[in-house]
Amino acid sequence: MKPGVCPRCHELTAVNAKFCFKCGFPLTKEAATTVESIKTDYVQLADLDEIREMKNTLKHELEEISKLKKMMLKVEK
Ligand SMILES: [Zn+2]
Repeated sequence: MKPGVCPRCHELTAVNAKFCFKCGFPLTKEAATTVESIKTDYVQLADLDEIREMKNTLKHELEEISKLKKMMLKVEK
């Protein structure tokens, strides 16, 4: 990694810049680590949301099934 040049887009950057001002590429190890931890946090949050959504869908389906069961029982009588 050359100082002052973005390795991704080859734009000239300030020597002490943490991120490329043009494409946002992390120019220091510290900045790269920050980006990675933010990504991990985001993925974990997305997973939680997905699980919550799946739970809601399952709950809804269970309700539908129990409704259907009741209907079927009524028809059988
Ligand atoms: Zn760049």
